[in-house]
This record gives sequence, structure tokens and C-alpha cells, in this order.
Amino acid sequence: MLAAAGIRRPNRALANPNGDPSPSPLLLGVDYYPDQTPEALWDEDARMMAEFGFTNVRIAEFAWALMEPVEGKFDFSWLGRAVQTLHKYNIAVILGTPSAAPPPWLTAKYPEIVEVNAQGAPLHPGGRRFTCPTNKTYRRLSLAIAGQMARTFADAPEVIGWQIDNELTLSSSPRCYCNYCQAGFQEWLRSKYGSLDNLNRTWGTVFWSQTYTDFSQVPVPLPSGGDPNPSLALDYNRYQSYANTSYLEEQLAVLRKTCPRHFVTTNNVGLPLDLIDLRSLYEKLDFVAFDNYPGFFEMLLHEQSKSGPVSWDYIYTATALGHDFARSLHGKPFMIMEQQSGKAGQRTFSPQPNKGQLRLWTYQTIAHGAMGVNYFRWDTATFGAEEYWHGILNHDRSKSPGFDEIKQTVKELKALGAEVLNASYPAETALVFDYDSDWALQIQPGHSGLSYTSQITSWYGAIASIRSGIDVIAPGADLASYKIVFAPVVYVLSEAQAAKVRSFVQSGGVFISNFRLGAKNEFSQMARTPLPGPLRDVMGVTIEDYVPIYSAKQGVKFSSALAGADGECGMWADVLQPTTAEVLGSYTSGAHAGRVAITVNSFGKGKAVYIGADLDPASLTRVLRSFSALAGVKPLLDVPSGVEVTVRSSDRKQWIFLLNHTDAAQTVNIPGPHTDLLTGESRTGSVSLGAYGVRVLQAS
Ligand SMILES: [Zn+2]
Repeated sequence: MLAAAGIRRPNRALANPNGDPSPSPLLLGVDYYPDQTPEALWDEDARMMAEFGFTNVRIAEFAWALMEPVEGKFDFSWLGRAVQTLHKYNIAVILGTPSAAPPPWLTAKYPEIVEVNAQGAPLHPGGRRFTCPTNKTYRRLSLAIAGQMARTFADAPEVIGWQIDNELTLSSSPRCYCNYCQAGFQEWLRSKYGSLDNLNRTWGTVFWSQTYTDFSQVPVPLPSGGDPNPSLALDYNRYQSYANTSYLEEQLAVLRKTCPRHFVTTNNVGLPLDLIDLRSLYEKLDFVAFDNYPGFFEMLLHEQSKSGPVSWDYIYTATALGHDFARSLHGKPFMIMEQQSGKAGQRTFSPQPNKGQLRLWTYQTIAHGAMGVNYFRWDTATFGAEEYWHGILNHDRSKSPGFDEIKQTVKELKALGAEVLNASYPAETALVFDYDSDWALQIQPGHSGLSYTSQITSWYGAIASIRSGIDVIAPGADLASYKIVFAPVVYVLSEAQAAKVRSFVQSGGVFISNFRLGAKNEFSQMARTPLPGPLRDVMGVTIEDYVPIYSAKQGVKFSSALAGADGECGMWADVLQPTTAEVLGSYTSGAHAGRVAITVNSFGKGKAVYIGADLDPASLTRVLRSFSALAGVKPLLDVPSGVEVTVRSSDRKQWIFLLNHTDAAQTVNIPGPHTDLLTGESRTGSVSLGAYGVRVLQAS
């Protein structure tokens, strides 16, 4: 099944001496730290993990100091013993390369490897993830330890795969602005633009007398008394993604060469986080692995808002967005490398998950396309910066509050089996997420309240309420398999991307976008044509004016085609002049009262919708849902608010997941007889879901 999903088969299966089709290995494991655990406890830990039902561990990703105590002197003896102890209980091993936390001898000898933050200040050793992705010395030393690990464990029968590094760019300083990165940026620019003339022209460096006469003069966007050139600033974001990806790919190359039978991945956190282009980072890896902490996310949101409880509707929806993004990166099942197993946090604790939530959050990953889950972590550290990050065992090694629930979940997932875990996830709807538009808007939001990721999350929430599968795709992706494509705030649009949209609509697709569409090209220069730039003909409108709104109230009245109560327009109003489009909504107050706010254009066999107003959430949901229905997207099932429904399918079977994110029992009507695969019960007509309950149904 793993091979069918395009994933390298772990070598235990490959090594089957009889050549029999062995059961597909499942990745249902736990993150373990033998480096932080007395060796006398390893055997007991491995035995307990096996009894728990875990199939694998991920280990060693923060153990550089123990594996290379002195530069060039490697000691993997302890790791070998740990791996063998785990193997005794048939626990497979994913090894982590340790480059996210270099040891003190390294930073003492090579202090130049530290990152420089956005204020130009160097970070200091003592935490983790404080290193420069460009620095050649750091790359050489990272490669040396990864290469030694690879050579040591290439033929170890217990080892099935690798995680390179850990959460690249997830730190207090996600970008590095050091001299090495400046030189790397200059080389990257030379390769991208070929000549200084081309760079100067493309960036418009004549502005503020920034014309460069040598690549070595090009700065990085550190504080300089005024805002940076927007084209330079966007390219620097791209360069930092490139630097981190090429850093990872150096380790990947040595692992591929030395350990051809092992799978290789890395772990990171996706949307709504947007620090690094994950499409590039994961491009050459065998599968996507993400970390998933809904309760920790709740705590972070609470700290940011400081305004009381955060809506769980928002949290589970944003989490679902992250899972759909993870699956869409490769268009294949993904793994959760770290799954929350209790309270989590560094300085403060996230809330204790309610009874049922740990199981629910695990099923949410599976429901959206995960094929494996490792829980973070086995025991809870009694020292170090993550003492508050609770595992399956408490500090005193007693069972954590989530112990029995996670054990039950693992048992259930094993019973469900590999077929469902590797099944596909059908989607007729696509949501475009574009790093360029996101980063360019961070550089120049246009309105202090305008955030690309907030818009993406709002739109995802609105279309998720349709209860049908959603892929989260790149601009320029092949759109042919979708009925409808949603693309909010396409601030940056290239001619090539516009051509894909034109062809999609011409062939019968429905494309929906909103304000700022096509405002900039891919070089972050403003469009020199009337907006919406290269999509004017497809959208059938011209933008007469674009209006950031601060204090004046602006209302929107809908036409009969979008029948509903008047809506509110928030921070932005594009004033539309239809050329061929039909009017669907108009502004009702303020300077632009009576002018056009929303249009739909028939273009070829399809339709293109322009929403010029920043609509209130209820109106936005109603508008997006009505066009989804027009495109022929049907809900999988009608479910109550707070309940998710998803479907995974193989050639022969379908699995329906029902997830109740509320603390109250819910009832869902289902057509025809079904079997509940978790209980074995047959169901017809309706099923109940307890608080935080889960059902996995199959038509019978
Ligand atoms: Zn750097």
C-alpha cells in the first residue's frame, strides 16, 4: 500500500526473505528520546511501547552532542544499543538527523554559523534553530554528522527511514540576514536575472537611486531608514526558502546515496503558518510529514488575541486547512510526525485536551488524508525547555490522562488497516494558496488589517461549510480536475498563471476571486494595465478604483441571484465597472453608494466571479456556497454545525468519516445502510455522535 501511494516501502517489508506479500507496515508510533532517558529504562520503554501497539519511533533528532562529542569523533554506540533494544520488541526506527541543534563545541569554534535576525542582531547559542541556512561551515558539519549516521545505520534492519533536521525556519527568527546569506542572495540573483541590467530594470532600482553596478552591492532587507524595494524584499523571501531547501537537499543527497532502501522526509508545520515555501521543501522527499498540535494552537491564538476563549470552530477549521494543504503538497497521503498527546507548551501549558479530543484530532488527520501518526512524545521530559510538553507518560512515568485514549485510537487504526490509511481523498473544489501573494502582501498589505493567511483561512472556512473535499493548490497548478477554484487576494499574478485560469474557465470551470486580483506581476511590480490585469477579459470587469476602508461604513446589497440580507463591507472595496459581466451586488452607502461590488462573467463554457467587497463572514459564506452549488459541487452529507464529514476512497471502497468537534451529542442522517467500522454495528437512517465523537462508516 505504501508503494502504491508512491512511498518507498520500509525495508522490513523489502527484506521479507520469503518474498511473500507481507502486511503493509503501518506508521503508528511515538517520538522517543533515549538520549534523555537512563539506559536502564530503555527495555521497559520498548516493551511498554510494543504493548501499547506502537509500530515505530522517531529518535535522535536533537542528539548531536552525544553522537559527535568532539568535532570529527563520532559515537553511535549508544544509539545502536537503543535501536537494538527497540528492535527486540519489533519497534521500527525513523532516525532524525540532528542539525536543528548544534552542540556548544561547534558554536564555540565556529561562531559565524549563527543566524542574524531581521533587526540585524546575531542570535546566540543556547536554544535551537539559531543557525544560518547558507553558511558553508554549518552545511559541511551538518552533512558530516548526517553522512556518518547514514553510513552507520544504512544496513540496520530496524531502521526504516529518516527525518532530515527538524522544523526548518520555525523559530523566533524564521529568516537569516547575515553576510553569508547576503552573498548567497547575490549569487541566487545572478543566476535568476543573468545581468545587473535585467535586475535593475526588473526591480526598478532607479527609484531612490538604488541602481546597482555590481552584484556585491545588493543588500538584504535589514532596517535602512525606509521601506525596502518590494521586488527585492519578495525575492529575499524566495531566497530564504531556496537556502533552507538546498540545505535540506544536501542531506537528502547523502541519504539517498547511502540508504537507498529507506524513506526520507522532514517535519514542519503548514498553513496557516507560511514561513517557508513547503512546496519546494518537500518536492524531492518521499512523503510529507507535518506536526499537529491543535491545543497548542489554541493557546497561541489566545495569547495573541488576549480576549478570552478562542472559537473551536476556528481552530478545527484552521487545522483541517493545514491537513488539506499537507495532502495537496504531493497529492498523496501524508504522515503526522508529531501529534499532540497531552498538554503542550514551553513556558505555559496549553489546555488539557477534553476527553475524546486526542482521539478526535488523530481521526481528523486520517479523515483528511494522513497515512500514519507518531505521537509526541513517549515520556515527558523532566529537564530542558520542553518540560511542559506532555507525552504518553507523565513526569513520574505514570500514565498520562491521554494514555488509554491514544492506546485505543492506535488499536482502532490498526484494525481499520492500511487500505484506508493509504486511500485517496477526492476533491472537486480547489483553494489556491500562493506564497508570492502572501509574502508580497506582508511587505505591502495595503491596509493594516489585510492579511493573506486570514483571508485564506476565512475562505477555507466558508467553503468547508459546503462539506465537500477541498484541495489546497499552487497558483499555476493543473485545474482540469476541479469544478470550482477559489482564489482569494491574488495580489501577485503572472501571465502564465492567468493563462491557466483563462483555459479553466473557457473549458467550463467556475473561478472565484476578490479584491486585489492581478495588482502585481511575479516581479512585484504594479500591473501597467487596468485591473484585474491579465484577467480583465475573463472576469469581464475593469476596476475603476480600489478603496481601503478605515472608519466609513460601507454596505452591500445583493441582486436576486444571490438573494439574502444586505451585507457589510469591511476593510476593502474595489469599485467595479462591468464590461461583459453581470452585476450581483452593489455598495449601499458611502462615497461609492450605487456602484458595483460583485459580478459574474460568462466566459467560454464557464463563469468567473469577482467579489470586490471585503464581505462579512456570513455574506461571504452565502456567496461562495451559492457558486459552489452552481458549479455542481454537492455536500457529502448534511451534518450539523461543528461536525466534519470527509470521504476517502480506493478503487473499490469508500470510507466516510464523521467528526464531532463539539462538546454535545450530535445526530447525522445517512442515506442507506452503513457499517460502523469502529464498532461493527450496522446503521440505517441516522447515527449519533457523542461529544468529540468519531464514526468511520462504509456502505453495506
Ligand atoms: Zn545567514
